[in-house]
Amino acid sequence: MERKDEIAELDARSKELESRNREQPRYSSQEPTRPAPVVPREGTCIHCGKKTASYWYCDGATGECECKECKTPEKI
Ligand SMILES: [Zn+2]
Repeated sequence: MERKDEIAELDARSKELESRNREQPRYSSQEPTRPAPVVPREGTCIHCGKKTASYWYCDGATGECECKECKTPEKI
């Protein structure tokens, strides 16, 4: 039985794989980094709870907005 040799071989293989994995940090650099949008296209109105893109104010961090309908309520 030559168990010591087997273990040594496995150890060498795992180290080889480790070093290979460490040499592949190039994936992310190929994709263009898009800047995060400051203002989302749609937001949820804090007054009526409606998801709308027709707002006059929107908080990009929370996604809360105030829609134009709530800003200017219909007047007869
Ligand atoms: Zn609203």
